[in-house]
Amino acid sequence: MNFSELGLSPKVLEAVTAAGYTQPTPIQEQAIPRVLERRDVLGIAQTGTGKTAAFTLPMITLLEQGRARARMPRTLILEPTRELAAQVEESFVRYGAGQKLNVALLIGGVSFGDQDLKIARGVDVLIATPGRLLDHIERGKLLLTGIEVLVIDEADRMLDMGFIPDIEKICRMVPFTRQTLFFSATMPPEIQRITDAFLHNPVRIETARQATTASTITQRLVATPHNPAQKRETLRRLMRDSDDVKNGIIFCNRKIDVQLLLKSLLSHSFNVAALHGDMDQRARTVALDGFRAGTTQFLVASDVAARGLDIPDVSHVFNYDAPHHAEDYVHRIGRTGRAGKLGTAFTLISPEDHKNLSAIEAMIKRPIEWLGPSLDESGFASEAPAPRGRGGRNAPAKGQPRKSPEAKPAEIKSEAPKESPHAPSKRPPAPVPQTENAAAPAEPRAPREQRDTRPPRDERPARSDENRPRRSYPEDNEPTPLGLGDHMPGFMMRSAKLK
Ligand code: AMP
Repeated sequence: MNFSELGLSPKVLEAVTAAGYTQPTPIQEQAIPRVLERRDVLGIAQTGTGKTAAFTLPMITLLEQGRARARMPRTLILEPTRELAAQVEESFVRYGAGQKLNVALLIGGVSFGDQDLKIARGVDVLIATPGRLLDHIERGKLLLTGIEVLVIDEADRMLDMGFIPDIEKICRMVPFTRQTLFFSATMPPEIQRITDAFLHNPVRIETARQATTASTITQRLVATPHNPAQKRETLRRLMRDSDDVKNGIIFCNRKIDVQLLLKSLLSHSFNVAALHGDMDQRARTVALDGFRAGTTQFLVASDVAARGLDIPDVSHVFNYDAPHHAEDYVHRIGRTGRAGKLGTAFTLISPEDHKNLSAIEAMIKRPIEWLGPSLDESGFASEAPAPRGRGGRNAPAKGQPRKSPEAKPAEIKSEAPKESPHAPSKRPPAPVPQTENAAAPAEPRAPREQRDTRPPRDERPARSDENRPRRSYPEDNEPTPLGLGDHMPGFMMRSAKLK
């Protein structure tokens, strides 16, 4: 099938040609005519299937008729993360070239002033994360009563991030007669409930589940000891010695390990930046832009921050940790081998990862080859994994000396590079500003009349877009410290004098 058979306007077809697309993807082929017929659509599809264009192209065609009114946007797109929202904005700019479309992006971590101005001028397409959108509505600066099309993208991601109550609230604020386009990679019962409640006789479009990985990606497992210092050494060897490493994304399961690994790699002169949900928006944008532009060679990332990102030219993915959810493996390695390019994905496997690896291989329905000796052949398998639990990940077993002290952040600084320093191109950039929200104290709830003076939702610690309570994301499964753990205040250690 050809794009010209789908009913898109001539201007949009021009933009499609300019983008270099010759054929619609299956979801585009099925969704575009339905959206143009003003039907509700339930698309069960992942990123990488062309789903963004499946809703943006027909929306732009529909928006060619009519005009936006002040404070009353015509269409609304909800995205779970700021990066995905920014990516969708880019799509509108790209496919809407030559059209007078007013697009506004409402994401957290950016000042309200410019966003208010844009809304006041009248917006055709409003792209928002749920928290910031509700903030604008609470401030009385925005009305959703003119919404003609509502898009809810990555709904299962919204569920993971605790956004579903916000989504329900927003769905009740838009007119009953609007058209709804709803996209989710999976359909757990909570998502099914929402689609039953808010979609009107939707057309259900299901693209092949991404349980298989692209043939353009070479996948290899790499046996490693569980000990963090040795694991980092294994990673560095892969980053330095593998063929054709142009750039790469390194995935960790937990935000704290993203930070630790960043510090370690910087100390080893790698050109690397971090991307995770606790970083402020400016730092996230700087990290991502640097990586896209090629000025940063490596990105250490968490799943939440990196999911769905469309960076066309990533040569390598390194799974520093095997993901707990097999689906995340497919998403992670899908960051490479995109747009017909070749890519390589290495996954470090330590004795602790047996279960995760079995789940991954079961999902992709084939075993992954080892690079070098397998875990069994390597002899690492017989090592006792570091004990987890109350005493922390690296606490010694009863009666044993501490085995891997370098897992403590302070000691990473002294992990001196063993190899000679790298070529100038691998010099580290200025350190990326880190965690702002994580250390912020919990904020007391203000009386109702003071609500407008409270900080925006996305700056409140427990309610920010990526810091909201999530259901069971492994990134935050830190072992519970005993008492105050390593954070015992000095005054509590002083001996007390009894009178
Ligand atoms: P998405 O699933 O929306 O994240 O899109 C993934 C990638 O596919 C993006 O880089 C798009 O530019 C690209 N893409 C979308 N539609 C097409 C198409 N019909 N032909 C080729 N590439 C496409």
